Amino acid sequence: MMTDLDLWSAAIAAAETRIAGRVLRTPLRRAGRLSARHDVPVYLKLENRQTTGAFKLRGATNALLSLDPASRARGVVTASTGNHGRALAHAARAEGIRCIVHISVLVPANKVAALEAEGADIRVTGDSQDEAEAAALALAETDGLTWIPPFDHAGVIAGQGTVGLEIVEDLPEAGSVLIPLSGGGLAAGVAAAIKARSPATRVIGISMERGAAMHASLLAGHPVSVREEATLADSLGGGIGLANRYTFSMARDLLDDVVLLTEDEIAVGIRAAAAEGETVEGAGAVGPGAILAGKVDLRDPVVAILSGSNIDPALHRNILASETV
Ligand SMILES: *Cc1c(COP(=O)(O)O)cnc(C)c1O
Repeated sequence: MMTDLDLWSAAIAAAETRIAGRVLRTPLRRAGRLSARHDVPVYLKLENRQTTGAFKLRGATNALLSLDPASRARGVVTASTGNHGRALAHAARAEGIRCIVHISVLVPANKVAALEAEGADIRVTGDSQDEAEAAALALAETDGLTWIPPFDHAGVIAGQGTVGLEIVEDLPEAGSVLIPLSGGGLAAGVAAAIKARSPATRVIGISMERGAAMHASLLAGHPVSVREEATLADSLGGGIGLANRYTFSMARDLLDDVVLLTEDEIAVGIRAAAAEGETVEGAGAVGPGAILAGKVDLRDPVVAILSGSNIDPALHRNILASETV
């Protein structure tokens, strides 16, 4: 009998074929300094170099290519803290599909500019991710557009899972994989891809202390909302949805651990990635940050997914120039 894990694994393999040629197959690079400093081999999965600057292009592309012709003709709508909206807009333009993006006022200016550059029809609605999402859902209903959410969607999860599939293909002996965790689309997909092929590999989700909705939900045993707070890892902000369908149970069943980082620990991660020659945003830095904070029980070799690079350049310069570590 096929288990859920087998079904997800098959969906991820199909996504890999579907999106090939439309997204980059990113390198898995050995991190010389981090490895030397920790005396364990550390590898970096370079999704910060993905087109649009984050892994989100994988899920967005897979979801769009899975639409039926009538839905495709009407177009799509989403709400996003930035990277999903940007990825969906990029993928929609590439496929000639209409795309509307709802965002909250919390989205940083550099991300709004990037969305505009991708040709998205942007609507700023609401003080939080949840309010932007409600507006997007209402529009989907009235205009017959297909709602493509940032994480809790089977096609999106399968697309993000291709990151995990590539990791197992390139480093089958991976002992631990560190996954930036927000709504859990990346973590669910990557964990499914890895656990289906390499059950002994530890998969660990990493969030920030400030407003970690998935962590709070896992503790409560059901989806809960948390207060949104400003954080260096702005791409990890937002709730998981109180009516969460997939990612909560997948995170609960497949992740071996979830750890939380302070703002300082995230900044250390940004500097560590820069020392390896990689520009990452706060969300993309939590893997190196967690290794250096000694917060994860590591089985080597370790893979850290550098999930994105979209950080305000002035903020990045300030963090690199500041003192500690
Ligand atoms: C969206 C995002 C995440 C978190 O992904 P989820 O699927 O919501 O858990 C991590 N890093 C970056 C750069 C992102 O854009």
